[in-house]
Amino acid sequence: MLNEFRCKVCNRLLAKLTDESVVETKCPRCKTLTSYEKGEIIVREIKNESIERIRNFNSRREENG
Ligand SMILES: [Zn+2]
Repeated sequence: MLNEFRCKVCNRLLAKLTDESVVETKCPRCKTLTSYEKGEIIVREIKNESIERIRNFNSRREENG
């Protein structure tokens, strides 16, 4: 069973991985450094322009309840 490893900033699909996988990669779209460890997606390093995208994303989620 594979999990989708998606960028938390731009939601690009980076890989499909098992629960046991440990991967670190840079998103080709927004350059956010992201790692995947045993089913958990962790943002390691984020560009300033990407922080704005996250803020926009979070505010959308709040509006949706
Ligand atoms: Zn991205």
